Amino acid sequence: MRALLPTALLAVALLLGTLYGRPLLHAVRRHFSYPSYGLTALCPHCILPLPRPDSHVCPSCMLPVSGFAATDPILRVLSTGALFRQGSRRLVGAGLAGVSLLCAGTLVIVCFLWADGEREASIGALVTGSPWLIVSFKALSARHGPAGGA
Ligand SMILES: [Zn+2]
Repeated sequence: MRALLPTALLAVALLLGTLYGRPLLHAVRRHFSYPSYGLTALCPHCILPLPRPDSHVCPSCMLPVSGFAATDPILRVLSTGALFRQGSRRLVGAGLAGVSLLCAGTLVIVCFLWADGEREASIGALVTGSPWLIVSFKALSARHGPAGGA
């Protein structure tokens, strides 16, 4: 019985190679080949060609495309704005729960400070938490607003 094992394994390998060899070879070639669009760098968000391969921000969708855009002091402002825009565009699931939690925390802190009589600190907390309130308001108004709006 053990003498037949190499022959049986060879027969199984030949059968699998006959059945799946050609599609597997095509998949491997496609995976390791250059893309058909050439060597032009594309934006990962809107899939339009970038003006330069080392661009940090896509000029068409204004979203960051490199790590430098998140660490540069000036481009970080743009990246943060893009984060809020993307977050408010489609707020569902865990993102909606997270923003709701941040809004609820902000409102609880504002209410406690207001009840303690610290009006300036309450307004400061409201201003500090205002991005989360704006994002949630925009997301809820886009959800219940007219379809097809921007
Ligand atoms: Zn883009």
